[in-house]
Amino acid sequence: MAATPASSERTLIDVLRLSTDYLAQHGSTSPRLDAELLLARALDVRRIDLYLLYDRPLREPELAATRELIRRRASGEPVAYITGVREFYNRAFAVTPAVLIPRPETETLVEVAVERLRARGHHAPPAVVDIGTGSGAIAVTVAAELPHLHIFVTDVSPAAIEVAHINAARHGVEQRLTFVEGAWAAAHAQAQFDVVLSNPPYVTTEELAESSRDVRDFEPHLALDGGADGLDAYRALAASLAGHMSSSATLLLEIDPRRADQVAGVVRGVFPDAGFTFHEDLTRRNRVLEANLP
Ligand code: SAM
Ligand code: GLN
Repeated sequence: MAATPASSERTLIDVLRLSTDYLAQHGSTSPRLDAELLLARALDVRRIDLYLLYDRPLREPELAATRELIRRRASGEPVAYITGVREFYNRAFAVTPAVLIPRPETETLVEVAVERLRARGHHAPPAVVDIGTGSGAIAVTVAAELPHLHIFVTDVSPAAIEVAHINAARHGVEQRLTFVEGAWAAAHAQAQFDVVLSNPPYVTTEELAESSRDVRDFEPHLALDGGADGLDAYRALAASLAGHMSSSATLLLEIDPRRADQVAGVVRGVFPDAGFTFHEDLTRRNRVLEANLP
């Protein structure tokens, strides 16, 4: 795009091709998709409608708007932060740089949670909590999938709570979510939980320092940094849950597949009688640890 002459004769498909090449040269691993999303945003149309406009020449203000978004992406800024939105479980979530961009692998945790909650039925409504909610991806999706469920939602970041609130309203579930700002389960000092959901920070400090610029320089380290061994958050979270789990409670944690047994070890340290199961993500790696208390 930088080399693109400011010609008003450039059609949308020309601009899309040039932008795709430019992003590919500047470190994007999904240049075509990125270019489509950004072009759609610059022109204020839906991505799926772009192809209807392929032959339309772009006007100078449209080219300028596109160039600016492509420039931001080429500098490493994730598309979701530029557009302010990311799809998760077929729903559009608002995102800001205060929250982790929801990941596809987190849909595994949502699937298992929905299954387990359905199996419990809704005769006695379970006490459910999503700890470290970020954008609210987990809590909002589970609440939207299960229309009678009430969920407690916590994060230590007030800015994240704000985003989760926006997403709850956007998907019509805000009446069934209770937002509390605070650390781990301590945010709900009195509660006894039946189902605990969490995708805590689990990247090691070293992995984070070596991760791609898009992640390292733009996503909140508070959401990702799990300390020297990637387990700090699990230790703090598990300790905070002691005394707050009802009998037959279920704990569902997203994990790094390489550290599945270590996370189970941490949880077993606090809940020695729990039964453990792992669930695989779409890449067939253990992505969720399920702990069931007796
Ligand atoms: N649940 C969202 C998702 O799955 O996309 C975000 C998960 S992100 C990996 C971890 C979240 O934990 C962040 O939103 C971060 O602010 C939050 N967090 C970090 N430390 C925390 C703490 N001590 N207590 C509660 N939440 C914390
Ligand atoms: N799956 C995320 C990543 O690899 C990490 C999320 C987390 O720390 N909970 O970027």
